[in-house]
Amino acid sequence: MKFDHHIHSCYSGDSHSKVEDIIKYSMKIGLDAIAISDHDTVKGSKKAMEIAKGQKNINSLIIVPSIEITTNKGHIIGLGLEEELKINQSPEEVIEKIHDENALAIIPHPYTYYRHGLFATINIENYIKHSKPNRKLKIDGVEVKNGRFLLGYGNYKTKKFSKNHNISPLGGSDSHFINAIGDCYSEMEFESVEDIFEAIRNNKTIAKGQKTSNRLIGKEFINKKIKRKYKRN
Ligand SMILES: [Zn+2]
Ligand SMILES: [Zn+2]
Repeated sequence: MKFDHHIHSCYSGDSHSKVEDIIKYSMKIGLDAIAISDHDTVKGSKKAMEIAKGQKNINSLIIVPSIEITTNKGHIIGLGLEEELKINQSPEEVIEKIHDENALAIIPHPYTYYRHGLFATINIENYIKHSKPNRKLKIDGVEVKNGRFLLGYGNYKTKKFSKNHNISPLGGSDSHFINAIGDCYSEMEFESVEDIFEAIRNNKTIAKGQKTSNRLIGKEFINKKIKRKYKRN
C-alpha cells in the first residue's frame, strides 16, 4: 500500500494545487493514502477530510490529517495533528505537543539547509548523545526520500540516521504542484489511519520513489516568477 504524507495544497501559500485536484490525481495514480502537510495551516488537510466524508466513491483513499510546522530550528511534520501550533517554538516543545495529541513527529528533508531541514540546524547525533533522557527528541519518522531532494549526501546521512536509531524511513513527494504527487511515497501494510501509525511507530515502512523531474520544478519556478511580476505591476 502506498502513502504520500507530504503534499502541499493552495492553502500552503507556495502551491496552487486545489484539494479536489489533489484527491482526484492521487486516486488516479493509485495512492492508497495521502496527507496534506501545508505550512502552518490545517485548512487544506481539513478540506480534504471534508471532501472524503461527503463522497462515497473516494472511500478507497485514506486521508490522514497533517501539518508542516515551522519551529525555530526547522520544519517538523505533525502527522495526525488536526490543529495549528504557534510558529517558531523549539523542536522539543513542538514534538511534545504533537505527541500529546497522539500524532507522529516526522522530520522532512532533514539535512537540507535551504529548505529549513531540522538536522541542518542542530547536530542531531550530538543532541541525542548529550541530551538528558527526558529532553530527547522523540522522532517517529524521517524522510529518507523527498521528491525535491533525492540525490546527495543529505539523503545518505538520513538513511544512516534512520538505520542507526531504528527510526522509520519514509518517502514524501513534498509536491507543490499536481504532477509531482506520489513521486516519492512510503510502502507499508495498512487498512486504516491507525495501521499507518502502527507501521511508522514500529519501523515497518519502506521509502520509495524518484526525484520530481527538474523540468517540472523549473516550470514551477518560472510560473512563480511570472505570477510575482504580474502581481507587482
Ligand atoms: Zn519543509
Ligand atoms: Zn513541505
